[in-house]
Amino acid sequence: MKILVTVKRVIDYNVKVRVKADNSDVDLANVKMALNPFCEIAVEEAIRLKEAGVASEVIVVSIGPKAVQEQLRTALALGADRAIQIDTEAMPEPLNVAKLLAKVVEAEQPGLVILGKQSIDSDNNQTGQMLAALTGRPQGTFASAVKVEGTLDTGKAIVTREVDGGLKTLSLDLPAIVTTDLRLNEPRYAKLPDIMKAKKKPLEVKTPADLGVELKSHIQLLKVEAPAARQAGIKVDSVDALVDKLKNEAKVI
Ligand code: AMP
Repeated sequence: MKILVTVKRVIDYNVKVRVKADNSDVDLANVKMALNPFCEIAVEEAIRLKEAGVASEVIVVSIGPKAVQEQLRTALALGADRAIQIDTEAMPEPLNVAKLLAKVVEAEQPGLVILGKQSIDSDNNQTGQMLAALTGRPQGTFASAVKVEGTLDTGKAIVTREVDGGLKTLSLDLPAIVTTDLRLNEPRYAKLPDIMKAKKKPLEVKTPADLGVELKSHIQLLKVEAPAARQAGIKVDSVDALVDKLKNEAKVI
């Protein structure tokens, strides 16, 4: 049985994001790009399920321009078996991504689809939920633990979810959709021989037209603004001066 994992190309989380001078968007010129960290966790979880004998194949899919093949190769080096790029000019909005993924799900019939809970560039937190709605499959979002009971096509996925103030455990009928939270696992690093081997693993390129999906944009980006610069701090020369400032200026004690 197959597991389908979605991987998105985003700005590396170590990069300090710059806004274009005209505030029209984030400046991506010469910026280091990487696998979305939540997608890295999704790949790791799928590989662990394959290593445990639960899945027989891990397929990774990414939607975007040719450059996303770099992240697909990373996922292949981490242990995925084959990759699909759905070629689009720009990164589509979540509804379009979910529609394209629904077609891949229809064709591949995976027992489990694992997505990140959110893209760290646009912070949408929408795609997994939309995919569950479009495919009619049950969803376990913000997963911090996933256990499969029985087989991937007819069994159950026991998903522990991180919710405000605690944990909630669900039993989902498989096939199902899961989105990953930060504490699900600690992703491995790709080893050099695996990076070399990944170059030879299959990577198929499809277009939205191949999948019968017409991309429509419903969202317009109006403006991007950097957060206000923080004011410089001051140094005080004694504990008494600090207490005085906290009491009389900041009025927090
Ligand atoms: P979002 O709803 O944009 O916050 O994204 C949630 C998750 O959906 C991400 O962590 C990815 O796993 C998946 N996803 C979103 N956009 C794409 C894309 N262009 N290609 C592949 N996966 C994506």
